[in-house]
Amino acid sequence: MTMTAVPRSADLNALLDEHARLRAELLDAGHLIDTGVEGVYGHGADFSAVCRAVDALVGRVIHEVHGGAATVLAFPPVMPREILDRTDYIASFPHLSATVATYEGGDAEHRLMLAGRDAGHDWGGHLRSSDLALVPSACHPVYPTLSGALPRDGAWVDVSGHCFRHEPSSDPMRMQSFRMREIVRVGTDRAAIAHRDSWVARAAGILGDLGLRVSQAPAVDPFFGRSGRMLAANQSADGLKTEVLVNVYGERFPGVAVASGNYHRDHFGMQFDITSADGSPAHSACLGFGIERIALALFAAHGMDRASWPGAVNARL
Ligand code: ZN
Repeated sequence: MTMTAVPRSADLNALLDEHARLRAELLDAGHLIDTGVEGVYGHGADFSAVCRAVDALVGRVIHEVHGGAATVLAFPPVMPREILDRTDYIASFPHLSATVATYEGGDAEHRLMLAGRDAGHDWGGHLRSSDLALVPSACHPVYPTLSGALPRDGAWVDVSGHCFRHEPSSDPMRMQSFRMREIVRVGTDRAAIAHRDSWVARAAGILGDLGLRVSQAPAVDPFFGRSGRMLAANQSADGLKTEVLVNVYGERFPGVAVASGNYHRDHFGMQFDITSADGSPAHSACLGFGIERIALALFAAHGMDRASWPGAVNARL
């Protein structure tokens, strides 16, 4: 949820101070590089190394649990725009969505654009939304690849990708552009729910073993607008989403979600014509690890100098 609409209570001011303090420490240490846009950062060498180590650790656990049964996939940061339609993301989260705008004009329009640019006008309006969108969740490009009948036991997919959500924030934990690694289960309703629950517990274990103070809590997505309030109420009543939270800003403030488990019922099965062995629409669930968020939580917990981290933590990474 964004903080902009919330009145600035003393608590909120204190939390914003915490955001600013952590952000300044990360920038000073060279772990994050300011690009001038909130929530979009370059990464320093040590930060990149921790991200790689976190990703590799998650990958090792996925392999231990699922062995060769999980198909390993990676997708680029962009996907066909129609996936925003078919997942209903554009209906539920228009405020977080982004498409890729490209220039399709000719010479005359180009001259007009350059004249406007010389006059100091914004040239963005000369570009038009293409058939590409930025990927909002690493698992979304997976579902079109599963259309058709699943094998008897369903499918597991280990997927990595860059995600974009348009939610600029001064909180360094809330990036607009970040990476996720997800373990996706598609099959029966029971298989999907069991996957979500076992992976939420496993994620909490992995993060706890890294010396992070971890909790789990039911959660709702930041659905847009009036109809979104109903979607959020249903999501909450049916217990579809569970977050794994790390206490980054002290006991006084809510934890920050660094992983989340989602059960989608048969939503993606219906939208992408994925069927279980019995011919019914498949159910799905995913557990997503926020790679940068986990790395940031580690620096916040153990200090900006990785060499001084507890040996047990460095050993796991
Ligand atoms: Zn997912």
